[in-house]
Amino acid sequence: MDCNVIIDLLPLYADGCCSEESVALVETHLKSCKDCKNVLDSMKGESFSGLSETMPEVKISRISQFKASLLQSVLLFLSFAAITLGVTFEATTPMGVGNGNWAFMLIIPATAFMLSLANWYFVRLYKSKGVFSTFSMIITLGLAICGFVWGVLHYGNLSVSFVIGAVVTLVLCILSKILSSLYAKALGKQ
Ligand SMILES: [Zn+2]
Repeated sequence: MDCNVIIDLLPLYADGCCSEESVALVETHLKSCKDCKNVLDSMKGESFSGLSETMPEVKISRISQFKASLLQSVLLFLSFAAITLGVTFEATTPMGVGNGNWAFMLIIPATAFMLSLANWYFVRLYKSKGVFSTFSMIITLGLAICGFVWGVLHYGNLSVSFVIGAVVTLVLCILSKILSSLYAKALGKQ
């Protein structure tokens, strides 16, 4: 039997895709031919090393996926806690000039940040990590601006609390950019 014919059959043989006749043929040949046996061994070695290389990758990505989900959950919880705190303070503010201060300072920026987290579920749709994190930041800013416009119309004032709210919004926008980038990185996005 020609070695070339056996070598052509070896990949199928190694994968267990040969007919019984071919298996018998290959095995008979392998008993008497060291060269072909070596070819088969090197094939098995390749597929084995290929497997062992991908195994840790899968493990790391699972841990990373867990970390990414944990980050998103913690941020969701924190922004919700900030909103709750703001609503509590706002509720205790007597009607008058101070009314709406906590909405501007905390509730609106925190709500904008929390809603921007919904965008994180669509991370895979973005071309790159950079585009995703920039969009997350823009969404946070856009929602905050909408909130401020609503606040001005609703409370009819723009006190010093608006300035504090703008600073808080700026900080949250920067955090949105940095944290969404970390989130995308953990999920292996380039
Ligand atoms: Zn041979």
